[in-house]
Amino acid sequence: MVWGVARVLIPALLIIGVIEVVIILIRKKLRNISNKLRLSNTENCPRCGGKLVENNSKFGPFLGCSNYPKCNFTKELK
Ligand SMILES: [Zn+2]
Repeated sequence: MVWGVARVLIPALLIIGVIEVVIILIRKKLRNISNKLRLSNTENCPRCGGKLVENNSKFGPFLGCSNYPKCNFTKELK
C-alpha cells in the first residue's frame, strides 16, 4: 500500500520539479528579452539618431552607435 502511493508520488514530484525548472528558465529568458527591448526602444544616438546597440569591451558592456564607424558615440552601461 505504501509502495503503491510512493510509486505514484515520486514520478509526480519529479515531473513537478522539472516543470518548475523550465518555468524559471523561461522567466529568465523573458526578462533578458524585455531588457533588450527596453534598451533598443528607449536608447537612440544623440549625435546621429541611430540605434544604440549593446557591445562588450575589455572594460565591460557599453552602448555603441549602430552607425559605427561613421559615428563613434558610446555610452557606458550602468
Ligand atoms: Zn550615432
